[in-house]
Amino acid sequence: MTGPRPERLLGKVVVVTGAARGQGAAEAEALTREGAHVIATDVSEAPSCRLLDVTDDKQWAELAAELRATYGRVHGLVNNAGITWRARLGDVTPDDFARVHAVNVTGPLLGIQHLAPLMPPGASIVNVGSTAALTSHYPVAYTTSKWALRGLSKTAAMELGPRGIRVNTIHPGFIETEMTASAAPVFREANIRETPLGRTGTVDEVAPLVVFLLSDESSFITGAEIPVDGGLTAHGGVKSIADTMSSAAAPGKSEG
Ligand code: NAD
Repeated sequence: MTGPRPERLLGKVVVVTGAARGQGAAEAEALTREGAHVIATDVSEAPSCRLLDVTDDKQWAELAAELRATYGRVHGLVNNAGITWRARLGDVTPDDFARVHAVNVTGPLLGIQHLAPLMPPGASIVNVGSTAALTSHYPVAYTTSKWALRGLSKTAAMELGPRGIRVNTIHPGFIETEMTASAAPVFREANIRETPLGRTGTVDEVAPLVVFLLSDESSFITGAEIPVDGGLTAHGGVKSIADTMSSAAAPGKSEG
């Protein structure tokens, strides 16, 4: 006979940024279901969230001081907050470029700087990258910020490893959230065409990976990068060639 599944994050204190909606909200809920004490944060007001602008060093310092006083320790950080900006190479302004990098790279850096000192061995940090970080995705400010986040993750995994703190990156593909809803419909269709599973993903298909990476089940995984993208990045950009060749080929005829 099997009893109820033990909660995998029982007693762990976990901070999630950008948790007012979308993937962050789903991650905060999933982590809570597994027994974690979640401090959900966001720059936007939301009933379930504490206010935190990830670009603000002072706000991070205040949060860290509160967590130290209340819990003494922090076992997890999910650097999920992020913004996009769809200007292309020839059009992006330095201000917009810097604004996107401030949220998507400096935010996670500050989170790690302020919370890692409170982390015991076994703690885990998850940085939310993007398939943009594995490709030449056209919104150049977003793409470069997510590539930079990969570098931050790698360096943090190396620096914090000796203290038993793990740092991993996940790379969502097209996930149905307000961020992707703000893009033109053709963007969604083009993503589906390039995705071997032939569909978009949901926030509930990302959250379980975050739970796993924060749990002790992933205790020897650090510095890793895991796409959650329906295969989008696995084919290296050649899906449209394969699709074109199969529609051009006579039935049963093999192509070289
Ligand atoms: P979303 O826009 O629905 O949610 C992002 C959240 O981050 C919002 O609640 C927003 O208020 C918050 N945020 C923005 N700036 C902030 C700041 N300065 N400080 C604190 N919070 C801030 O987007 P989402 O799709 O849920 O995205 C979550 C993460 O996943 C982001 O890092 C995003 O880049 C990444 N991502 C999303 C997709 C996708 O298809 N949706 C794909 C790849 C990666």
